[in-house]
Amino acid sequence: MTDKTEIDIKSLLEEAGIKPTLQRLKIYEYLITNKNHPTVDKLYSDLHDLIPTLSKTTLYNTLNLFVEKKITVPITIEMDEGRYDADVSSHGHFKCRKCGAVYDFPHIKGTEDGELPSGFVAERTHLYVWGLCENCQKNIEK
Ligand SMILES: [Zn+2]
Ligand SMILES: [Zn+2]
Repeated sequence: MTDKTEIDIKSLLEEAGIKPTLQRLKIYEYLITNKNHPTVDKLYSDLHDLIPTLSKTTLYNTLNLFVEKKITVPITIEMDEGRYDADVSSHGHFKCRKCGAVYDFPHIKGTEDGELPSGFVAERTHLYVWGLCENCQKNIEK
């Protein structure tokens, strides 16, 4: 029995030149369905029940492979906390200092070519914003 998402994920990995092993499929599926910008620790604890044979090394290697093949972006909003995002479109990340959640927000390639020294062309920008999310803001006001 294969559901639709599984087929899509499989072809997506194959198109990126990645051999779709069961572990890779599950890891990628987690990233695109949860969209919670998980850390490796979070991924490991959440995926461990699903894939009991998963080792942390395999998880690290898989994430590195996804990043290398450009189907996952590393989010380095905190120096000591690597997170991963399977949404590779251009968008900004907002980290709430209270609940620690990382939110997406629309962000068009920030750096206009005009702001760069002449002859330089921007290919990738990443905008990180820190603050309080809507929920935490409400709780503080109460
Ligand atoms: Zn918050
Ligand atoms: Zn994101």
